[in-house]
Amino acid sequence: IWNGVPQAPPDPILGVSEAFKADKDGSKMNLGVGAYRTEEGKPLVLNSVRAAERQMVADMSLNKEYLGIGGNPNFCKLSRELILGADCAAVREGRVSTVQSLSGTGALRIAAEFLGTFYKGAAVYLPNPTWGNHKKIFPNGGVAVKSYRYYNPATRGLDFQGLCEDLCAAPAGSIILLHACAHNPTGVDPTHEQWAEILKVVKAKQLLPLFDSAYQGFASGDLDRDAQAVRMFVNAGLEVIICQSYAKNMGLYGERIGALSFVVADAGVAKKVYSQMQQVIRPMYSNPPMHGAAIVERILSNKENYEAWKLEVKGMADRIISMRTALHSALQKLGTPGNWDHILNQIGMFTFTGLNSAQVTNMTKKHHVYMTQDGRISMAGVTAAKAQYLAAAIDDSVRN
Ligand code: PMP
Repeated sequence: IWNGVPQAPPDPILGVSEAFKADKDGSKMNLGVGAYRTEEGKPLVLNSVRAAERQMVADMSLNKEYLGIGGNPNFCKLSRELILGADCAAVREGRVSTVQSLSGTGALRIAAEFLGTFYKGAAVYLPNPTWGNHKKIFPNGGVAVKSYRYYNPATRGLDFQGLCEDLCAAPAGSIILLHACAHNPTGVDPTHEQWAEILKVVKAKQLLPLFDSAYQGFASGDLDRDAQAVRMFVNAGLEVIICQSYAKNMGLYGERIGALSFVVADAGVAKKVYSQMQQVIRPMYSNPPMHGAAIVERILSNKENYEAWKLEVKGMADRIISMRTALHSALQKLGTPGNWDHILNQIGMFTFTGLNSAQVTNMTKKHHVYMTQDGRISMAGVTAAKAQYLAAAIDDSVRN
């Protein structure tokens, strides 16, 4: 029956991990997927997560009954408070509707289908470039995809003028996807002043901002600072959509835990929106899994766990930042042609190296350094021991 099914291409990011696994070379590095690694190059389970899990095992009152369609309500409350701040007026006024989601991807997918149903005809504008999955998630939910200028390869920074022009030219009511912090794949974020300008345009043109927040805490090491852009928009009175992921900042990748919030005009609307988010979820997967939500709940609601977690997030962010310095200085020492200051200036998990496709192929084929074809490397996969090796591979790829 299925002979006619064509082979699908490998996923541009997860396919890199498959190729990495198949490589037998001892010096290989996987800088493709955005997953945190320790200084020893190992995956990390946070101590705060272990503590929460121990408390869960000891808690005999827990059971394995189904969660509601919208997930664990306390988890939802804590999640919106984490991104918006507990003192946020919209939160206090009951204007924020939150459901638990299958990590950030699931939040985006529910948002897309909701928009495809209740916000018909509007396209979503994605930054160019953006996380590749965005381009598939929205059409699957019934929302057409367009793009706005974001990255300027010449400066390896933000094309702020292009961004503003494109947002100004978008039809009123268009959805604008914004990376809340630590833009993936470029590592380039607007400054505080630029965010304020973007807010002005969004307001004036009556655009609908949708924030993708997959790296809160990872950009600066400070959870509040990384939420500033979202809070600026919400506190200006805008209606916004927020997709949160705990994959990176709690290291809960495989637990698939995240949240989707709609900040709306009043508490009555919030209730109706919540009811329709449930309508999207019920036929898709009925209700979400409980384990990840229970971990997050125990971390965010217990002062000791929370303080421990905050330090661990900062520890991860600081190690990534120190790897930027290590790689940059190794390239300086080698006298690698070109300017590499963007390695220091870019923010979050990734560096957009500027290596072209042929150079990336050389990195992988000759040096066993696995990365996405667009030249992105995950700084979280770099260790002090391997920074020199990576620099030498970049040096060779640039010179040849
Ligand atoms: N948005 C962005 C920008 C991301 O980089 C990621 C993770 N790579 C996600 C969303 C969602 O990831 P997850 O579904 O694992 O939370």
